[in-house]
Amino acid sequence: MTKTKTLLASIVAVAIGGCARPTPERQIVDDAAAALGGADRIAAVRTLVIEGSGTNGNLGQDMTPDATGQTFAVSNYRRAIDVAGARVRIEQTRTPNFTYFQGPQPQKQVLGIDGDVGYNVAANGNATRVPNAAARDRRAEVFHHPLTIVRAALDPAATLSNPRTAGSESVVDVTTSGGLGFTLAIDNGTKLPTRVVSMTDNVNLGDVAIETSFADYQDVSGLKLPARFTTNTDKTTTATLQVSKQAVDADAGDLAAPEAARSATPITGPAPANVTAEVVAKGVWWLAGQSHHSVLVEFSDHLTLIEAPQNDTRALAVIAKARELVPGKPLTHVVNTHHHFDHSGGIRAAVSEGLAVITQKASAAFYQDAVARAHTIAPDALAKNPKPLKLETVDEELDLKDASMTVTLYRIAGSGHGDTILMAYFPRERLLVEADVYTPGGAIAPYAENFLENIKKRNLRVDKIVPIHGAIGPFADLVKAAQGTK
Ligand SMILES: [Zn+2]
Repeated sequence: MTKTKTLLASIVAVAIGGCARPTPERQIVDDAAAALGGADRIAAVRTLVIEGSGTNGNLGQDMTPDATGQTFAVSNYRRAIDVAGARVRIEQTRTPNFTYFQGPQPQKQVLGIDGDVGYNVAANGNATRVPNAAARDRRAEVFHHPLTIVRAALDPAATLSNPRTAGSESVVDVTTSGGLGFTLAIDNGTKLPTRVVSMTDNVNLGDVAIETSFADYQDVSGLKLPARFTTNTDKTTTATLQVSKQAVDADAGDLAAPEAARSATPITGPAPANVTAEVVAKGVWWLAGQSHHSVLVEFSDHLTLIEAPQNDTRALAVIAKARELVPGKPLTHVVNTHHHFDHSGGIRAAVSEGLAVITQKASAAFYQDAVARAHTIAPDALAKNPKPLKLETVDEELDLKDASMTVTLYRIAGSGHGDTILMAYFPRERLLVEADVYTPGGAIAPYAENFLENIKKRNLRVDKIVPIHGAIGPFADLVKAAQGTK
């Protein structure tokens, strides 16, 4: 070998060495991998089984829009992860710390994700497939763990970008080989992952960040793994977990989706709306057909809808039905009974159709925020057709009244279901519209006694309950439910 060739070889060697120096984004991932136990150790892990206890939040269903006091205590928690296969199965028991509409008894839950198939297993063993949107969230949740996200980030097929420093953390964006996007943050001192964030669409909240924070790292089979997890959805803590036991490469059990779920037709969106119309009295229609009903009210020169529930699909179909029933009068207002997500999920659609919203005053800020929020991940009717919010609020009582119709809205005081719930009283027709505080025909009626007290306190004369859930029923049935004799 000549001297020239030796020199050339040296330059090539230096150049290769230079190429091997990690980029800043790769350095963050490499640091995290080294802190967790090394890339080779991470790659060798087949399963992780985590046991513990914690809490689940009650997002969008608490006493007021800002309240966070309602939680489920989580016990017997077990999460089995097939690390390479990105399959997870969670078993847990949830016990509400509040007056829950399904009652106070603990509920066992089994939920999982296997590829594109998300599933739940009921207490009787029946497995059902969850909608694709929920399955996507579960696929993302698999990577809300230091081991799985760093393993995915080490994959040469992953894309790393946007390295940055934020306070005491270094942060990098990770797009997995499967196309899922995350933000990974590590501690600048220990280099251990501190949190993972992913974005998803929520019907009510629009674009939301789901963030899982990690703490209390412990040594497990040559790895550092966290023993404390806290998950926030937007601004609300939706889950906490304190690990009592975790094992690497223990028997994870069968993590394949049950056949009933695997072979079920994928659910790609909300169920098509089926809106039925039943005349309850002159100028009053009950718009039912599925789980959440609405009531249409005809005034002298306009129409008002009570409730735009669930989502765009339901709310837009109900609005169309209202306009079809009374084509000669404009539909101008929607009364929202309360902020709970299943009852407020169609409000943005109603705003997009030009309706003014009437709700209890403590929910005003909630609707201002709901209408202002970004819905870019899954643009909804309001995102496609932006309109300003027209909001009218009720404190304890408000009359909606003209020559042909009178409806009085009352706040239901002291209900265990919520502090801001409105009921709608029709004095002439002796009807009362309510949501959630009483479901005619329901198995249990934990809020009925308080509801009846509210009716008596107001001296309302009621013949029929026209519910947002369940069938129209006589007042006498409510009395029986409230007394626990039915
Ligand atoms: Zn509710």
